[in-house]
Amino acid sequence: MCDLVLRSKCLNHFNFSFTCNNNNHHPHNHNHNLILVKNSLFLRIESHSSSTSTRKTHICKGRKLNDSGSGTGADVIIVGAGVAGSALAYTLAKDGRCVHVIEKDLRVPNRINGELLQPGGYIKLKELGLEDCLEQIDAQEVLGYILYKDRENIKLPYPLETYHADVAGRSFHNGRFIQRLREKTKALPCVQMNEGTVTSLLWKDNKTVIGVQYKSKDGKEQKAYAPLTIVCDGCFSKLRRSLCHPKVEVPSCFVGLILENCQLPFENHGHVILANPSPILFYRISSTEVRCLVDIPGQKVPPIGNGKMANFLKTMVAPQIPAELHDAFISAIDTENIRIMPNGYMPAEPIPTPGALLIGDAFNMRHPLTGGGMTVALSDIVVLRDLLKPLTDLNDVDSLCKCLGSFYILRKPLASTINTLAGALYIVFSASSDQASNELREACFDYLSLGTIFSSGPMALLSGLNPQPLSLVLHFFAVAFYGVGRLLFPFPSFRCTWIGARLILCAFGIIFPIIRDEGVRQMFFPATVPEFYRSPSAR
Ligand SMILES: Cc1cc2nc3c(=O)[nH]c(=O)nc-3n(C[C@H](O)[C@H](O)[C@H](O)COP(=O)(O)OP(=O)(O)OC[C@H]3O[C@@H](n4cnc5c(N)ncnc54)[C@H](O)[C@@H]3O)c2cc1C
Repeated sequence: MCDLVLRSKCLNHFNFSFTCNNNNHHPHNHNHNLILVKNSLFLRIESHSSSTSTRKTHICKGRKLNDSGSGTGADVIIVGAGVAGSALAYTLAKDGRCVHVIEKDLRVPNRINGELLQPGGYIKLKELGLEDCLEQIDAQEVLGYILYKDRENIKLPYPLETYHADVAGRSFHNGRFIQRLREKTKALPCVQMNEGTVTSLLWKDNKTVIGVQYKSKDGKEQKAYAPLTIVCDGCFSKLRRSLCHPKVEVPSCFVGLILENCQLPFENHGHVILANPSPILFYRISSTEVRCLVDIPGQKVPPIGNGKMANFLKTMVAPQIPAELHDAFISAIDTENIRIMPNGYMPAEPIPTPGALLIGDAFNMRHPLTGGGMTVALSDIVVLRDLLKPLTDLNDVDSLCKCLGSFYILRKPLASTINTLAGALYIVFSASSDQASNELREACFDYLSLGTIFSSGPMALLSGLNPQPLSLVLHFFAVAFYGVGRLLFPFPSFRCTWIGARLILCAFGIIFPIIRDEGVRQMFFPATVPEFYRSPSAR
């Protein structure tokens, strides 16, 4: 029985692929029955026991998605094999889809971003069956944060008591993690991963995306077709323009250094220093290396080439970091390559498009201070997987569009909580010449140092363990009113009352623009949006 199914599938595919290539049509033009048969056979194979896996791999690999030319037999094309693209390709292929991944550069990436995965992201990674990609890369467990202000510090553990023992944050070299994700994804039978740069999306009647045009490694222009194209080309996305309204802002840049062979004051914790003008981060990325990220507001940073950056780091930053890290920090400046990365912010404003979707940083970005980007991307993948699961035929454009509409709503609780917190905390944690803003920063530090729910609540939000925007807003205003209370207690003066009033205004001014960008209705009342009820869980 098993052999019969496998052989039928294989024949079916070759037939499909052959027609595709020779007529230079895209799969939409093919008869739906054929595709339905293809999908159902595929699903049957997936449900067979592991004893069939070797043969399945062989036959599926034989089911080539056409390395060389126009047209593929893929169900889904994924542009970019970073964190989002690789995890998504694995997930969809595991669900029986044939996935064609096109990645610009398949070498191990060397970057300073995406190095700390929050516990909420770890849980999503586990849900996707990818947690073993954190093994063999010298990843470090993260149990919470240490927050420094004026040499005082407070410990902010993640509230992990009710979770399985392995649930915690993880920090690592981003490139090693991505490479593990790619390897695991490539090993699946129905994934084809090509090196190539996607240059444009292919459209039918100017309204439906039917595939992509890309330049392969050998410089050849190629076309690939599929009923669904998912663009995951990261923060510098060139393809997002037609799929969303990209309003990218860059409030600051991170300057990255690696400190070697030094001890963090509190191992297994991220260290956040409320410095002037803005925060500095330290966290371990391997057993011998500590990452330092120095935030510089705006987009202009001192040039590296003429030594101005080194001078800035030594004179302005070094005096503000914990004494234990001082020497390693100075020697990192002298010996290391200094890396700079813009910290983009972009609210998700999709243009619903049949046949295409954005995921990851191409779709939505927040300030990286809270390390939430990978958690949002992985959570989005879980939401999308659950929505696409019942859809056997991706050529069914109506059902596909409904799924994508629901995706934009169902992702909101987690994404908007993390996005809003990141944006608000970045402003609150930055120094300001305005006294009311500085009072808010002090109040935030003191509020978190109260412990219990006052620290565990915000930490659950930051770590992606509690995706509740309302809880975020309550904590945010609790901080603001706590700040006012500190000012007025024990004897309210006119001056303090005035600063208190400005503090509340300042809090409103910080959080409301971010909430407006996220969408008040989607964020707080998703159940009033019709798309909410199209989700499998709501059904
Ligand atoms: C300074 C900084 C620090 C950060 N720190 C953290 C952190 O600690 N924790 C966290 O969770 N998040 C962090 N983030 C955010 C995190 O890096 C992103 O959210 C995450 O990497 C998004 O994954 P992605 O797959 O969308 O993009 P990427 O991981 O960037 O992957 C995009 C992929 O697309 C490929 N690509 C691009 N263009 C094309 C093309 N035309 N054709 C084919 N392929 C293409 C690229 O080569 C790349 O492999 C940080 C961000 C910044 C800026």
